[in-house]
Amino acid sequence: MLMLPDYRVRQRDYLLEIARALTSRLDVDEVLRLVLGASIAMLSGEVGLIALRDPDDRFRARASVGVPEDKLDVFKPLLESILLNETHSGIQHSQLDLKMRLVARALDLRLRQAITLPMMVRQQILGVVFVFRSYSGEYSANDQSVLQSFADQAAIAVHNAQLYERLSAEQQRLSAILEHSADGVLIMDAAQRIVGFNKALARITGWSQAEALGQMHDSLIFWEHVEHGQPLGAALASGWTQQRTSEADEPNTRYVEGDLRRRDGSRISLGVTYSLLRDDEGRLQNIIANVRDISHFRRAQEAKSAFISAVSHELKTPVALIKGYASTLRREDAQWDEATVQRALAVIEDEADRLAALIENLLAASKLQAEGMRLSQLAEVDLVELVARAAERFQTQTEKHHLRVVFPPDFPAVRGDEVRLRQVFDNLINNAIKYSPNGGEIRISGSYDAEGVTISVSDQGVGISAEELPNIFERFYRVDSALSRRTQGTGLGLYLARAFVSAHGGKLSVESTPQKGSTFHVWLPRLLVS
Ligand code: ADP
Repeated sequence: MLMLPDYRVRQRDYLLEIARALTSRLDVDEVLRLVLGASIAMLSGEVGLIALRDPDDRFRARASVGVPEDKLDVFKPLLESILLNETHSGIQHSQLDLKMRLVARALDLRLRQAITLPMMVRQQILGVVFVFRSYSGEYSANDQSVLQSFADQAAIAVHNAQLYERLSAEQQRLSAILEHSADGVLIMDAAQRIVGFNKALARITGWSQAEALGQMHDSLIFWEHVEHGQPLGAALASGWTQQRTSEADEPNTRYVEGDLRRRDGSRISLGVTYSLLRDDEGRLQNIIANVRDISHFRRAQEAKSAFISAVSHELKTPVALIKGYASTLRREDAQWDEATVQRALAVIEDEADRLAALIENLLAASKLQAEGMRLSQLAEVDLVELVARAAERFQTQTEKHHLRVVFPPDFPAVRGDEVRLRQVFDNLINNAIKYSPNGGEIRISGSYDAEGVTISVSDQGVGISAEELPNIFERFYRVDSALSRRTQGTGLGLYLARAFVSAHGGKLSVESTPQKGSTFHVWLPRLLVS
């Protein structure tokens, strides 16, 4: 029997012990510390360092022993630059040893020998272990082979720990994506017990994650009204999970849309898509629900149909008036005095203007949606004159309201698109009249500072409640009230006014007290930078 020298037996045992310890570790830093400790002990070294190759092929120092803190900052970049030119698969030993010795000397660590152990996995270099010692000892081919077999074991352990690290990071990333998804995500086990419930879903349903986890799907997801599709219970009862689709098929999903009851009893319009997750054998593992808040979409749909009926109404009234007055004037059996003819023609003219303004608004809105806002013909606009003319025009249409224009002297001109700015003030003044059915003063005032001008239109009308305030600038939006049902309108005026003001780099804002009145402020920059 071949007797191994004593130190070699010890070396083998040690190696075995470390290798065993290594395979059970999954933390990269811990594995590196173990490898480095063992390498230093085996080579009776004083200083050790491990550099790992990053996915971008650069080597970075990841673990060190015996390098004083203050030297580490110099050592690390030196080491990394030395390794910069090493290839994927190999490392030029003799040169590296030499360079490392120079590094050690430069750092004044009194180290005389540097031993380099490359860690290889599948012919690819994963990293390098460096051990420095203060004496230059010989080591045999056998020593070298023992060391190398240790380095190979270490490489596998490091590689596994790295894979695990990446996997955990990926898993964390995936759960963070789920958690921060803007749509609600609900994950159930095969028995419909909730095992995942993200933040968005907590916001949508009002149930907290803690309350939801572990509950059954049907005790939380309660439809008050189903508009399309089948709720999950009905889909399952009809044997949905038994249906198998081939891979080429569309994913096997079910969609349900309607109003859900939230935790506090309020309702919310939702669209939910359920899909199935199976394991390799086709057994149902999870049911996943993607939950989308569609209240906004529903509101838009309702607003659109309200808009169509409002537009038809708005078109019908002036057309009927124009037609009525025109036919009256044309009657051959009647003789009209000049004053009556003039009055009738004035109505026809006013109504035609109203139609033209409505058509202008409709065109502007569709253009705005199709191509965004573009201003044409930028010129210096005298807002005082523009507003005064509008006030005069509107004053002729109402006796209940008193329009007052208050501007300081030397009110500066702005650069803008006069046609669009006129539409803004026409809409605001028109609204002020429409929504003060009892009359009162409508005050149009101006102020300015170095940056911009503000024109405010205030009325003493019905006002707007705080909940409605954010909505009134939306396209087609009309506050639902007895007054607005009586009042003509399409819900486009403020939407367009805000778009036109923004296109000038300005801001349109509102303050309002219900039953007291509203004030709309138009702020425009003094010089439009275009
Ligand atoms: P429209 O007047 O055609 O309905 P707007 O976009 O001009 O559309 O206004 C949207 C809604 O905002 C109106 O339906 C109305 O309820 C409200 N509103 C606008 N201006 C005023 C105002 N000055 N006072 C009270 N409510 C207003």
